[in-house]
Amino acid sequence: MTQTHAYGTTAATQPLGPLGIERRQPGPHDVKIDILFCGVCHSDLHTARNEWRNTMYPSVPGHEIVGTVVAVGDHVTKFKPGDTVGVGCMVDSCQHCASCADGEEQYCENGFTGTYNGRGKENTWGGYSENIVVDEKFVLRVGHEARDLAAVAPLLCAGITTYSPLRHWQAGPGKKVGIVGLGGLGHMGVKLAHAMGAHVVLFTTSPGKQADARRLGADEVVISKDPTQMAQHAGSFDFILNTVAATHDLDPFLALLKRDGTMCLVGAPEHPHPSPNVFTLILGRRSLAGSAIGGIRETQEMLDFCAEHGIVSDIETIAMKDINTAYERMLKGDVKYRFVIDIATLKQEAKAA
Ligand code: NAP
Ligand code: ZN
Repeated sequence: MTQTHAYGTTAATQPLGPLGIERRQPGPHDVKIDILFCGVCHSDLHTARNEWRNTMYPSVPGHEIVGTVVAVGDHVTKFKPGDTVGVGCMVDSCQHCASCADGEEQYCENGFTGTYNGRGKENTWGGYSENIVVDEKFVLRVGHEARDLAAVAPLLCAGITTYSPLRHWQAGPGKKVGIVGLGGLGHMGVKLAHAMGAHVVLFTTSPGKQADARRLGADEVVISKDPTQMAQHAGSFDFILNTVAATHDLDPFLALLKRDGTMCLVGAPEHPHPSPNVFTLILGRRSLAGSAIGGIRETQEMLDFCAEHGIVSDIETIAMKDINTAYERMLKGDVKYRFVIDIATLKQEAKAA
């Protein structure tokens, strides 16, 4: 084991602060990664504050990791020291169930091991730390330019969580696609759906985000609290991707779907949404669905798609010590559009201590 500096919390009501954690020595199939940047996902906040009621403390969040390989085990074939790599939300899965066989490890029938708060061979701690050791099967190749690496980090969760359902429900030319919420996931959803060639409509509760939404690739912007604006789109969507992190009424969005249209939820709020009106679903054979991140193969496909199309996240880089302020700002929707921690600031802090 090696001692590693990290940031985390020991209880739901405590702010995040410096913590010491232990990383395993790289085994034969492991890659040791020196972390450069880690994105701040709303799931980090849900977990740190035990909003999903499954947090193991101490908790070290962070699953949008970009770094440099510093050591590899004897049997590692895909990576070598010096490579730029990414790690997303998973670090292990059973590798033998039907979902794993299909490359959909996020639906592992025996439960995948999360990058943090995981209960695999060991408890897992995430990317708010100096380094991480991961089985090479769960390490991604990053092909972007070095200057973009901070902005690549959010692709590892926000990117794949929106890319996967957009592909599954075939967003593309001739399709009218809605994205609900312009936060970390939502802004990636807008960029990706636009790059796939769909007609993109952004739904927001924040009138101040309209110009940004258009710049990011939205063809139209709808203020979702305005019933008149909503009514103009009744029955017209092929697909709606809902990224909202809070409980809300789903009916106004379901009513905007065409016959056979689908709304997919990726937002995972602390409390359930009110049950949708059954008739809105029945009359139109509409579907309400959900989707979790994406498999490793598809995550690599997404990273390659983004490198090819010059897509990265719009970010605000922060120092590790400012994480608690960043959480409060995220709760107010005051982030354009993802915070990314410069892990060099954690290393400096650790050295000075
Ligand atoms: P985020 O950056 O905080 O964005 C969420 C957005 O939702 C906000 O920017 C806001 O957009 C909208 N919103 C917030 N509160 C709202 C309210 N009360 N009513 C209506 N809209 C509201 O969060 P994120 O990192 O994108 O994550 C979004 C959710 O996805 C979280 O619950 C997270 O845990 C979940 N998640 C799920 C997966 C998965 O695999 N399914 C993966 C990652 C994250 P506007 O200002 O534009 O309205
Ligand atoms: Zn996430």
